[in-house]
Amino acid sequence: MDAMIALAGNPNAGKTTLFNNLTGSRQHVGNYPGVTVEKKEGPYQYNGHKFNIVDLPGTYSLTAYSLEEVVARDFLIQEQPGVVINIVDASNLERNLYLTLQFMELGMPVCIALNMIDMADNRGITIDHEKLSALLGVPVVPTIARSGKGKEELARAAVEILEKGREKSEKRISYGVDIDTALDEMSEIIDAAQFLTHTYPTRWIALKYLENDEQILSIGKAADANIDEQLTAIADKVADHIKSTLNSYPEAVIADHRYGYIKSILKRDVISYGGDRNRLFISDKIDKVVVNRFAGPLIMLAVLFGLYHFTFTYSELPVAWMEGLFGWMGGMVEAHMPEGLLKSLIISGVIDGVGGVLGFVPLIMFMFFGIAILEDSGYLARVAFMLDRVFRVFGLHGSSVMAFIVSGGIAGGCAVPGVMATRTLKSRKERIATLLTVPFMNCGAKLPVFALLVAAFFAQREALMMFGITLAAWAGALLVAKFLRITVVKGAATPFVMELPPYRMPTFKGLAIHTWERTWQYIKKAGTVILGISILLWAMMTYPGLPEERRQVFEGERQALLSGLPDSVTQQLQESESAGILSNDAQEAQSKLYRIESAEAEAALRHSIAGRIGTGLEALSSWAGFDWRTNIALVGGFAAKEVIVATLGTAYSMGEVDPEESQPLSQKLVESPKWSPLVALSLIVFVMFYAPCFVSVVCIVREAGSWKWGAFSMAFNTVLAFLLATAVYQIGKLIGY
Ligand code: GDP
Ligand code: MG
Repeated sequence: MDAMIALAGNPNAGKTTLFNNLTGSRQHVGNYPGVTVEKKEGPYQYNGHKFNIVDLPGTYSLTAYSLEEVVARDFLIQEQPGVVINIVDASNLERNLYLTLQFMELGMPVCIALNMIDMADNRGITIDHEKLSALLGVPVVPTIARSGKGKEELARAAVEILEKGREKSEKRISYGVDIDTALDEMSEIIDAAQFLTHTYPTRWIALKYLENDEQILSIGKAADANIDEQLTAIADKVADHIKSTLNSYPEAVIADHRYGYIKSILKRDVISYGGDRNRLFISDKIDKVVVNRFAGPLIMLAVLFGLYHFTFTYSELPVAWMEGLFGWMGGMVEAHMPEGLLKSLIISGVIDGVGGVLGFVPLIMFMFFGIAILEDSGYLARVAFMLDRVFRVFGLHGSSVMAFIVSGGIAGGCAVPGVMATRTLKSRKERIATLLTVPFMNCGAKLPVFALLVAAFFAQREALMMFGITLAAWAGALLVAKFLRITVVKGAATPFVMELPPYRMPTFKGLAIHTWERTWQYIKKAGTVILGISILLWAMMTYPGLPEERRQVFEGERQALLSGLPDSVTQQLQESESAGILSNDAQEAQSKLYRIESAEAEAALRHSIAGRIGTGLEALSSWAGFDWRTNIALVGGFAAKEVIVATLGTAYSMGEVDPEESQPLSQKLVESPKWSPLVALSLIVFVMFYAPCFVSVVCIVREAGSWKWGAFSMAFNTVLAFLLATAVYQIGKLIGY
């Protein structure tokens, strides 16, 4: 079996970047905690050695307080990797080494990657890595994960550790007389009884008892209740003593000593700061303004608005090209294919359906590009930082912010990774409240619906409308979160600490990769899932077809019309395709013919499976202003929100028979008597809040651990959305729109 190398370190130290650089894969790299929640694996070869590299979730510590910490710790203990490459942010050495010490106390074969030395350089920090290595007793290799610099040296150091083999040597740090004495006493008991010692180092078990580590305490209790009691008694005694003498807790004293130990190492000329030590770093200077209590929120709103303005202004032309392209394709098929089911499938099912989704690719790309800039520069982390204050009020947590943003809080995310990102939340109740509300964000699939409606009905105010829609989604999500936190998931708030990563100049390559990854996901989905659902919906809208006797009625009308025409007109109509110029009489006759055909097509659509569902719901949906065609689209949206535009496209293109009238969907909606800006607004509200798509629901069920939460979110959201949309529509009508 290939030797296993685990990559571990603080969030944002560059683990995933290094992982990608070593394994050549393209895992998402992020500037904020919570992106890497699961561990990822990949192969790496160096000099004939084969490794299996595992990217562990980022943690600041190895206590069992959060899911990442448990995942990382359990992995290290159970899998016993041959080498643990501890990625350390050189520009934040002191904080990063805190985790390093804990690996060493666990007896892990550690090798330090002193990453981001370029950043450290920029900040005037110099680190003597050889001295650091000598003092800590582990190899230290300077690296720049972004460019891959130092990765060979790192691999060489790893091979050396592997060849030396695992020696059991756990780092011992002194925690002061009180704790050291207790640790010794406990170690004796543990060793004598071989209590958990086949899995964990002796002194480490004792430490965990002092630190009140829930996981170890419960494992210990189950393993041997008697020993567990003895250890707990000692731990309690020390805790009491520390409380009375220092007015503190063992955990705090232990942490102080770890930091003390690190400081003592760094003080021995390991680290030196160039220039004026107290100089404010550029990042800090920028942050003085950007996260300022008053200026910060204003800047945030301005940035957001700027993003929409940028997106809509610059994507207008390419979106029009795409619409033109699909219109042209439809026209070609229309002109050159024989009438029949296949033609209808290709035009209504495939081109209008998938084309409706793909038409928004340029818009999505611009949006993703803008977001990538915000993310890669480090601004998004500031947004999370600022919003923490707001989130607290609504019973959520600072860590919820990233889940919201990932889900499309700024626009164009996806609730699926958003729901998964809630794993960074430690409190279960805050986590449930977060994962139930992230689907309210404007994901990449809802975006085309909004873009379509906004472009059709609010053409002059696109950026402003998008801005408003975003704020409405946040307001809705926060209010619902508050509601949940005072009803079904009541409970206290937990504290939040977040380090702001320094600003970085985004690289063009990074931006391009980010933009392309997300855009490609969107395109891929359009070509697979959406194509499938779109065809299914087309079938539901086509079958069973009009019964013969009703078809006869339309045929009869047609015959009656044709036989009543003078010969000259009939002749003109037959030749019209080539000649094109018609007399007034012929034109009138032709439009009558079209009207009959439209009526027939509409009757067929109403008679179809989907049509019956749509018309069946109309009694209810008309409260919110939705006609039966819209209902069909909304039902499709339960499967995937992209389908809404696709299905509207299909529903409004079926029954359209005049080839010269083939226009973009937005145009059709504007001209339809059933539609108005008010209906559009009501639909926007409904789409914003109604049931999460199918994949999100599955994800919610998995993450919340019960199908009930999935069912809850579908039912609750849909009812809420309907009430809101109805309110918008009815109030709008009352005040005269
Ligand atoms: P993780 O949370 O540990 O997985 O960290 P990531 O791999 O997601 O990296 C966080 C950020 O640091 C990304 O924006 C990377 O591009 C950046 N980064 C990683 N390594 C380096 C480096 O050596 N130098 C610089 N300047 N940036 C880096
Ligand atoms: Mg990562």
